[in-house]
Amino acid sequence: MSKERILVVDDDNGFQEVIRRILQRQGFDVETVGTAEKALENAREIFPNTTLLDVSLPDISGTEVLSSLLELHPDTVVIMLTGHSSVTNAVQSLNRGAFAYLEKPVDPEHLLSVIARGLEKQRLVFENRRLVEELEQKNREMGILLAVSQSVSQSLELQKILDSALAKVAEAMSVEAGFLYLLENGQLLLKGSYGFTPENLQKMKVIRLFDITGDSSSILNLPLFVMNKPGMEQYGAVSLTKLGYKSYACVQLATADEPIGIMGVATTLEHNFIQREVELLNAIGREVTIAVRNAQLYEEASSAKALRELDTLRTELLANVSHELRTPLAAIKGFASALLQQDVTFDEETRREFIQTIDMESDRLNILIEELLTMSRLEAGVLELRKERRNIKDVVDSIRDRLFTLASKRKLKIMIPPDLPLVAVDDIRIGQVITNLVDNAVKYSDEGSLITLDARTEEDAIIISVKDEGIGIPAELREKIFERFYRVKAKRTANSRGAGLGLSVCRGIIEAHGGRIWVESDAGKGSDFRFSLPII
Ligand code: ADP
Repeated sequence: MSKERILVVDDDNGFQEVIRRILQRQGFDVETVGTAEKALENAREIFPNTTLLDVSLPDISGTEVLSSLLELHPDTVVIMLTGHSSVTNAVQSLNRGAFAYLEKPVDPEHLLSVIARGLEKQRLVFENRRLVEELEQKNREMGILLAVSQSVSQSLELQKILDSALAKVAEAMSVEAGFLYLLENGQLLLKGSYGFTPENLQKMKVIRLFDITGDSSSILNLPLFVMNKPGMEQYGAVSLTKLGYKSYACVQLATADEPIGIMGVATTLEHNFIQREVELLNAIGREVTIAVRNAQLYEEASSAKALRELDTLRTELLANVSHELRTPLAAIKGFASALLQQDVTFDEETRREFIQTIDMESDRLNILIEELLTMSRLEAGVLELRKERRNIKDVVDSIRDRLFTLASKRKLKIMIPPDLPLVAVDDIRIGQVITNLVDNAVKYSDEGSLITLDARTEEDAIIISVKDEGIGIPAELREKIFERFYRVKAKRTANSRGAGLGLSVCRGIIEAHGGRIWVESDAGKGSDFRFSLPII
């Protein structure tokens, strides 16, 4: 601890000397001056814990100096000294804030005990002030921690958690930038940031720890982050100094078992991060670690759920599909075997009928297998769309013949204006959707009825509609029919063939194009299937 300082202000040189010796012997740091002016000059430079002040100074009166001194340093303990005691003087001095008033000649022991009391009082004042400041600081820190923990617990989305935590940290610590890396496969990946320019972020993305030590945990144990160590840049670590930052602080994020990453703040100003600030950063780091673990567990749980759903889908698929595959196969096999029988001869017409059935059933198998493949690609999220800017009229023209063949026993009207705005589509897939809708319109309507295919612009999308005069769809099933394997349980549907996959495949394809598919229908009077494609 540094020595306590006593300023002696007295124009009597002999007195100065005596007092200096007495006080120095007690271990004080003593300064003596002979005038008020010198006293104030001295006090302006360094804080005196105690000032021994003669009342009658040659230049300014002691009581005035007292006021100026206390204005400079309200905490200095001023002990007034006087050669000729005057009660008025004493009262005046004490009223102005002097700690004590002593009469010369001063008894050294008495003086020392008064100084000791004064300093004790001063120490108490300092200690109290420190405690209050500490309390206020703690309060502020609790506020920051609370804000961070609130913002990190509001979301399970990792990116959001980290960005909002860093924004709070940077704001609380009055720095311009914050960064957070998480450990993944021996690399530190930048997962959250605040205040960095996009170009800088690009440079900071990855730090390949394994390249550096072969053991990622040891580098994370370094008290300071590696980024400013020379030679680190070849591993992807970017020197914050080179990015224009002058100071930074960084802490490790760790669960009870293992380090999971690092978090830090940086400023373009010269700033010595003190222990307290690092501790605060650590406390925030602990909150963030919990939030990160929660988000990771949530993600793991979600992907486990997704896997379970996929498994259910597979079981469902097998159960539904094996029947659908078996029916056309059985027909093909039956008619083919019949034709191959050597002991039976069929007339030309029957042979033709058999072959036609085989042909038709093969087509059905083909469609079913195509639907299944599309379905599984959609479910796995790997359906590749080859989108190009197309006029929807051209897309319809390319499948025109096929549509008229499908609807050969219906009246099919195609009304697509040639001047519709362009849309970004995979023409094969959109063709597949339209074919499917026309096929359904045929399946669920009577011979000779009207089927209309048209398109028009509506706000920022093109709406394509396939309208029939068939059996229609009850209101409560208009959403359900888009689910996979769902078929309306009605006599008419039971007679028609299908696996209930067509519409769910259509929905998958349209949604992958950023559009929407729905049905409007008057049960008994027909259905109007519509889908939208955003105009580019
Ligand atoms: P599928 O036609 O193979 O059964 P979809 O997914 O294409 O499967 O259709 C699901 C169900 O929606 C059909 O089983 C049928 O009940 C109903 N549906 C589809 N299109 C129409 C339509 N145009 N008119 C009446 N009902 C329809």
